[in-house]
Amino acid sequence: MHSVQRKLTAISPATGKVIAEIEETPLGKVSAIYEQARAAFPVWRDLSIAERITYLKKLKEVILTELENISAIISDDTGKVKTEALTADLMPTLDAIGHISTSAQSVLKRKRVKTPLLLFGKKSYIEYFPRGVVLVISPWNYPFQLAMVPVLSALAAGNTVILKPSEVTPLVGKCMEQLFKKAGFPEGVVQVVHGGKELGAALTKEKPDYIFFTGSVKTGKIIQEQAAKDLIPTTLELGGKDPMIVFADANIERAAKGAVWAAFTNSGQVCMSAERIYVERPVFRKFVELVKKEVEALRHGIEENDDVGSMTFPAQREIVRQQLEEALAEGAVIETGKPPHEWDDGMFLPLTVVSNVQQRMKIIQEETFGPLLPVIPFDSEEEAIKYANDTEYGLNASVWSSDIGKARRVASKLITGSVVINDAIISFVNQSLPFGGVKKSGIGRYHGNAGLLIFCHEKAVVEDLGKRISEVYWYPYKGKYPIYLNFFKSYFSEKKDWVGIVKSYLKLMKKS
Ligand code: NAD
Repeated sequence: MHSVQRKLTAISPATGKVIAEIEETPLGKVSAIYEQARAAFPVWRDLSIAERITYLKKLKEVILTELENISAIISDDTGKVKTEALTADLMPTLDAIGHISTSAQSVLKRKRVKTPLLLFGKKSYIEYFPRGVVLVISPWNYPFQLAMVPVLSALAAGNTVILKPSEVTPLVGKCMEQLFKKAGFPEGVVQVVHGGKELGAALTKEKPDYIFFTGSVKTGKIIQEQAAKDLIPTTLELGGKDPMIVFADANIERAAKGAVWAAFTNSGQVCMSAERIYVERPVFRKFVELVKKEVEALRHGIEENDDVGSMTFPAQREIVRQQLEEALAEGAVIETGKPPHEWDDGMFLPLTVVSNVQQRMKIIQEETFGPLLPVIPFDSEEEAIKYANDTEYGLNASVWSSDIGKARRVASKLITGSVVINDAIISFVNQSLPFGGVKKSGIGRYHGNAGLLIFCHEKAVVEDLGKRISEVYWYPYKGKYPIYLNFFKSYFSEKKDWVGIVKSYLKLMKKS
């Protein structure tokens, strides 16, 4: 009997038209995919870091040659404007290749560390070695960079990789597969598979050596539960409900423009969108009026000069609708935008700003992931911090003030993985900074040195030349206890007694 080849349909969310069909990877192939990745691992692992980086640089060349084509594919598949495909999907990927290429050698090289006195005569160092087969599962909102950056970091560290991009943006998944082929990565080193959650679940059950997941809290928990069964280590990059705190002494025009960008870029489908804005009461009204003016000047569409694209995932529309309806039913006021009963059926949701919202509402507590922005006044620094920390999430945050001391003080008190002062979101663009969340926003960090080190085991090595017959801490123990007492008193006291240390050590040697 022939099994029917299942296909993923790529639909342009902006037009509703089918733009491609991509063959799904059959579940029955999962074992063979792992076998291939495991077979390719020893050869890839044994290449020098410089040799592996050559492949990354080749990929960069291919991406640069096809830059326009790739940004068009990302835009078609997600509904985002091409400018954002370029600046927020392609640029971080290209930047990551540059960062990995220049830092991998120094980050992954053997590192000499101090050796304690009791181990006198030995050397200690740390070595890093790749984990094996890394499974990367990625989401649809930045379908290129959120797949590419972890994949390339894992490859540079010497792992082979299986990538399962989101089924919501299958055309980008296919595009990445072709780019790896064009860059000439050896067979089995990086395999891109196509499918939805069934395929994702089958891949996690096949015991990869590491799972790097970016997506929702719900799926993150499922993956962590499965990984725990085999003690598979993971990084989880999950959702966010990022606060923006605007003090009365901030540059209000800048804060309003920044808020509108941070809330509506990628149609609000950003894990680090500004999802709730707290504004100090004396400037609250002025800020809201400036935000309204900015929002009303934005152009919806996916042409080159448009600002805000469409939503990507139809199910997301429903979440935005529910949150807005609940808030309106409880007294929220629309400052600009439209209530859900006035929306059309398309994926370009009205950019909506609401006031008179309460901290306990879903619109403040749960991730929205859409073009919906609640604004709340606050009366003191303490209150702003309390509000900002009062959700289950902790990804990013922003603080806006002309008093840098105050901004830093507040930033330090926010329970988040990152904070931006007088701007928003952009910390993730700096590949030298670690990226990740606290609380339900995730476990672990990538980018920066961490981005390479998470894909390695750390091995502690102590080296002795093997010339002496015995060691002071070996048998026999006879007569050593009182000498140890003196040795430790001399060695661990605040002011070390070096004469006592040397005498005790020589005595210990004599008894060994
Ligand atoms: P999702 O959790 O629905 O899906 C993410 C990926 O997981 C997809 O590839 C999907 O096919 C796969 N998947 C689904 N169920 C699975 C299962 N049972 N086993 C294995 N794989 C499974 O998330 P999404 O809707 O694609 O992405 C949006 C979410 O991602 C938002 O919550 C957003 O905040 C979060 N996100 C986080 C970051 C970050 O870096 N922290 C970045 C972007 C997006």
